[in-house]
Amino acid sequence: NVDPSLARLAGLVRDVPDYPEPGVLFRDITPVLADGEAFTVVSTELAALAGEADLVVGVEARGFLIGAAVALVAGTGIVPVRKAGKLPRVAASRTYDLEYGSATLEIPADTVPAGARVFLIDDVLATGGTAAAAAALLGDVGAQVTGFGTLVELTALGGRARLAGIPVHTLLRY
Ligand code: AMP
Repeated sequence: NVDPSLARLAGLVRDVPDYPEPGVLFRDITPVLADGEAFTVVSTELAALAGEADLVVGVEARGFLIGAAVALVAGTGIVPVRKAGKLPRVAASRTYDLEYGSATLEIPADTVPAGARVFLIDDVLATGGTAAAAAALLGDVGAQVTGFGTLVELTALGGRARLAGIPVHTLLRY
C-alpha cells in the first residue's frame, strides 16, 4: 500500500497472535476506528466504492460501525445482518460452517426492498464464509449485491473465491 493515507491505516491495525485461539493471527482494527482521521479515510474510501447502491448492509458487529459511517457518507440507509436471536422479525436465516462449529446470520423483515442494490460491508474478509452467508441472505430477499467492501482482507484464506460474481473491495490486504 503506497497511498500515504492507507499506509497510516495499516500502521493502526494491531496484530494479536493466538487470538481468539492458538495459531490465529487476529487483525484488530479497533485502533483504526478509534482514530478520527483514519475512520474518515475508511468511511470515505468505501463509500466511493459503493457506487450507485441504494442501501448499505453491515454484518455484526464491526460491520455495523463501518457500515453506518459508509451509509452516512453515501447518503443511503443502513441495515444490520445479525447473529441469530437478536432480531424481533426475521426475513431470512442462513447457517454456515466456521472453522469450529457453525454460525447463523439473520436479516430483518421489511427493511431491504426486493430489487434493492446493496453494498455489503464487514471489517475483515477471512475465509469468506460470513460474507457469502450475508450475500445469500440478500439473495433470499430479492436484493442485488452490487459490491462487498472491507477494511482488511486476509488473502491467503481465499475468501474472494466464495463471493463469485460480486465485486470485492478491500482497503488493506495481508
Ligand atoms: P470469515 O467468515 O472467515 O471471512 O470471517 C470473517 C469474520 O470473522 C469477520 O467478520 C471478522 O470480524 C472475523 N475474523 C476472522 N478472522 C479474523 C482475523 N484473523 N482477524 C480479525 N478478524 C477476523
